[in-house]
Amino acid sequence: MSASAALATKVAATTDFDAIVIGAGMSGMYQLIRLRELGMKARVFEAGTGVGGTWYWNRYPGCRFDSESYSYGFSFDQDLLAEWSWTEHFAPQPETERYLNRVADKYDLRRDIQFSARVKAAHWNDAAGHWAVTLEDGSRHTARFLITAIGALSAPTMPTIPGMASFKGPAFHTGLWPKQPVDFAGKRVAVIGTGASGVQTIQEVAKTAAQLTVFQRTPNWCAPLHNAKIPAEEMAEIRTRYAEIFQRCQETASCFLHTAHPQNTFDVSAEERNAFLEKLYTERGFGIWVGNYQDMLTNREANAVISEFVANKIRSRVKDQKVAELLIPKNHGFGTRRVPLETKYYECYNQPNVTLVDSKATPITEITPTGLKTSAAEYEFDIIVYATGFDALRGAFDRIDFRGKDGVALKDKWQNGATSLVGMLQDGFPNMFMLLGPHTALGNIPRSIEFNVDWVTGLLRHMQAHGQQVAEAKPEATAKWMEHVMDCAAGLLSMEVDSWMTGVNSNVAGKQTRIVARYTGTAPVYRSWCDELAAQGYNDLVLA
Ligand code: NAP
Repeated sequence: MSASAALATKVAATTDFDAIVIGAGMSGMYQLIRLRELGMKARVFEAGTGVGGTWYWNRYPGCRFDSESYSYGFSFDQDLLAEWSWTEHFAPQPETERYLNRVADKYDLRRDIQFSARVKAAHWNDAAGHWAVTLEDGSRHTARFLITAIGALSAPTMPTIPGMASFKGPAFHTGLWPKQPVDFAGKRVAVIGTGASGVQTIQEVAKTAAQLTVFQRTPNWCAPLHNAKIPAEEMAEIRTRYAEIFQRCQETASCFLHTAHPQNTFDVSAEERNAFLEKLYTERGFGIWVGNYQDMLTNREANAVISEFVANKIRSRVKDQKVAELLIPKNHGFGTRRVPLETKYYECYNQPNVTLVDSKATPITEITPTGLKTSAAEYEFDIIVYATGFDALRGAFDRIDFRGKDGVALKDKWQNGATSLVGMLQDGFPNMFMLLGPHTALGNIPRSIEFNVDWVTGLLRHMQAHGQQVAEAKPEATAKWMEHVMDCAAGLLSMEVDSWMTGVNSNVAGKQTRIVARYTGTAPVYRSWCDELAAQGYNDLVLA
């Protein structure tokens, strides 16, 4: 018997599993594949009834990638890359869910996944050296290792408007969308919220609803997606470039195909700058956000130039200039919040069946049995859609009672903002590894997931090879990492803006103050920290 198999057997004798993974989205699925390779007995607990995570829950109309499809799929399986055809440059949700189910089928993942199993609590038992995980059904399961794969944008938040339960018609949150398609044809529909989810929903619902009323509290800077079908020949050509595509994703700051322009905004003439911005506006995807002049998100004057450029685009696309002005953000510059990508979003407001309500000027005061009231008017609706976002980043952690050494609650430890070592470990919480935890590089998410999973797998392999059973971040290493996280955020214009990226959610108590909620360094720098940690034999961890 190999050393690793012997360890796996020993651990299995004292706990139910070697590892428990929470969540069967892309992180949990890929982690399960790697745990099996280590010879570990693993169990994934998933609250939904199917795999896919984000792509399982977010099935609202119009939901699709904002990353190019071929940069988003798993990169680790060459056969799957050779077999799978993306039909659009930015695939719609049903296609991505199908893709992830194909991965689950291929690797027979479901045999180790317990569905409809929401984790309520996870407590570390120091004496036994294991985690005890309690599900909402009251069942209890133990494992040496606990791996959280619970997502960064997975805890939907509803507003707290009086009367919400009284509404007689159907009401949906975009992130908890029902499996049965919702028919909007001929209906009077309200959409509350204009983030990336709201924008995608609005442009789809506007096609069939009798009346669509959009309640916008803060406008966002949106830019064209320029989606298109991928013909078979083009997909065949893309397949030949996968190595190059994934290599490119490794090199860019946020793992997208786009990378910042090496020049500053005012290094070039106004004509050259305008031509470049026009080019970005006609190109696919996030280029206009992450492929713009390199000082666009740090230099106020530079940011004002691009903001005015996009404002003029909005003015040219929306016929009623009063509506156009309402759609142009006035309290933050372009790119300082997540840029929703759109397809004829602004043109929706030229349609006679679409109305925009400024819910900053006239806030929603009450949801009624037949619709809603604002401070200025009363509206009747058949359907209400809440596109009100998520308790992002640490929100999914706050919803589970995690307790580390000495019964310390993670929620208490993170009272003033999450801390971590490279986003994946937390001192005081041995053998808990967080995939996409606070302060991991996010960006094009699957690229970050694959890196996180491979890094955790590398650590587990190291522990197997050295007969080590417990890993914990050293507090001083956490402090050093957090110093780096804070340094990265200095000078970013996005730090001056309320958004999920700065830890603000108006619907969650205690989350009204801006913090450095996420890692804002580049993915290559992030990876170099993680790689260095491993290369130094995990000296920044206590391994026992
Ligand atoms: P979001 O960006 O946080 O937007 C929530 C919206 O709801 C905002 O417009 C917010 O207004 C509004 N809102 C919240 N509470 C409200 C209240 N009580 N009254 C009135 N309005 C309220 O959430 P999201 O659109 O779900 O997007 C979150 C993130 O998920 C995105 O930034 C993106 O990273 C990801 N996402 C990705 C994709 C994709 O890749 N295709 C699609 C969708 C989402 P305020 O701005 O005034 O707070």
